[in-house]
Order: sequence, then structure tokens, then C-alpha cells
Amino acid sequence: MKKGKKIYEGKAKIIYATQDKDLVIQYFKDDATAFNNQKKSTIEGKGVLNNRISEHILSNLSQIGIKNHLVKRLNMREQVIKLVEIIPIEFIVRNVATGSLTKRLGIEDGTVLKEPLIEYCLKDDKLGDPLIAEDHIYAFDWAKRREIETIKKMIFRINDFMIGMFRGIGIKLIDFKLEFGRIKSNGKSDVILADEISPDTCRLWDSITDKKLDKDRFRKDLGDLIPAYTEVAKRLGILHEQSNVSAVNVTKLSSIKKKSK
Ligand code: UDP
Repeated sequence: MKKGKKIYEGKAKIIYATQDKDLVIQYFKDDATAFNNQKKSTIEGKGVLNNRISEHILSNLSQIGIKNHLVKRLNMREQVIKLVEIIPIEFIVRNVATGSLTKRLGIEDGTVLKEPLIEYCLKDDKLGDPLIAEDHIYAFDWAKRREIETIKKMIFRINDFMIGMFRGIGIKLIDFKLEFGRIKSNGKSDVILADEISPDTCRLWDSITDKKLDKDRFRKDLGDLIPAYTEVAKRLGILHEQSNVSAVNVTKLSSIKKKSK
């Protein structure tokens, strides 16, 4: 697949056109941002790990009938994905209270929720992705009621699947963020999952120690982000000790090459 011109650059990814108007290439950068872009850094190897982890989760979701944008992973940093019209809402799914929820409502950190909680944020960096009510979505026509109904059903299935998948490898799925988009198929509009799912967009705690294995290592300056993401990938069975080229080896190789230049 030939990479065409850059059509969008976000905080952690770049989107390139392809010869096929319905498909684009998504490139995973090593850039990390937090607190509405106020904290920034580059963490070498993060993009490679997120590409692999997200590919693994999205292909598993396809197998249980959750339609999503992934077509295939091309290489260490790139995937072919379906071009969608993104719905401008971030859907935050929570199983355990932490982060902004605890600060906003004074809930004790680590409180297990009786049922999964979905929160809606407007996707607008200039406004700092403000929390909104479901009715705001209809008031401003950001999505139709039937689209949100479909999305909610998908979210509960995705959450159930991911809780089980992570529980099986000794990880608690605390919360995560999802985005959805519209594609045209046979003349009608369909809603699909159109987002990466990775330790950048989920909170993942070790089941026994509560060690954070996600982007909070960057947000809270805990260090060792790459070892934590590598641990998630290894437990998911994506990185094999014996594989000749693991994500991290490639990262090391590229840094050695850069240094020797
Ligand atoms: N999240 C995300 N992108 C965002 C906002 C949140 O991926 O722009 C994820 C975040 O990693 C966490 C969950 O959504 O897994 C809930 O985040 P929260 O609202 O607590 O935000 P934060 O505490 O990071 O401000």
C-alpha cells in the first residue's frame, strides 16, 4: 500500500492518504502529551508498542463482532485503517473511580463502581475536552439518538470483553476512552469503533500490586513507561522472548543507529 500525503497530525498519531479514498495509513508517534497538551515528551518505543497492542485488541474485538476501523497492521509503526467521519465525542468508560472523576466529585480513589459508568466529553482541545451531558449531544446534533444507543451497546460489550481479557493476564481494567465514527456501507451510514485501544487510552493496574501499567506513569512522573507497556504486551502474548525482533529490540536498534550517526 502506497503512503500518500499527510492529511492530519494529532498528538500521538499521523494520518496519511492512500490510493484508496476509503482507507488511510495511521502512524503511531512516540510523542506523549497530558493535561490538555501542557505536559509533553517523546518516549522512544511507545508508538511501536501501542501499534502492536491496539492491533491485538481491535482484531480480537472484530472476532466478537465489534466493527472497527482496523484493516491491518503494515509494519512496526503503521496500520491501514478505514477513513471515518469521526463523531466529536470522547466516551469515557469507568469500572473503578480514579483520575478526573475522583477530583471532580470527591469520590475516593479506587472505589469499585457497581456498574460501568459512561461519561461524555466534547472532543475539542481548545476547550479542554469538556464533560457534557448526553442531552448536549442531541441539542447540538453531534450524534443521533439511535447512534448513541448503538454506541452504548457496543461500549458495554467492549468493556465486558476487555475486562475478561485483562483479568486473564492479571490486569484490572480501571477505565478507558473510546471514539466512534461513521462510514457509508451500501448507501447507509454505519457506526464503527474508530480509535486505538492501548495503555495510552486505558488505565491498567496489576491485579495484585495495583502497579500502574499505563500512561499515568507519564502523567504522574512515575517513570519506566516502556517497561510497563512492554509488560502489558508480553502478558497479552504479543511479544515473545524468543522472537528475533521484538518491539523493544527494534527501538534499541533505532536509538543505537541514531547515536552512531
Ligand atoms: N483518556 C484518554 N484521552 C483523553 C482523556 C482521557 O485516553 O483525552 C483516558 C485516560 O487514559 C483514562 C480515561 O480516559 O484511561 C479516563 O480519564 P480521566 O477522565 O480520568 O482523565 P484524566 O484523569 O487523564 O484527566
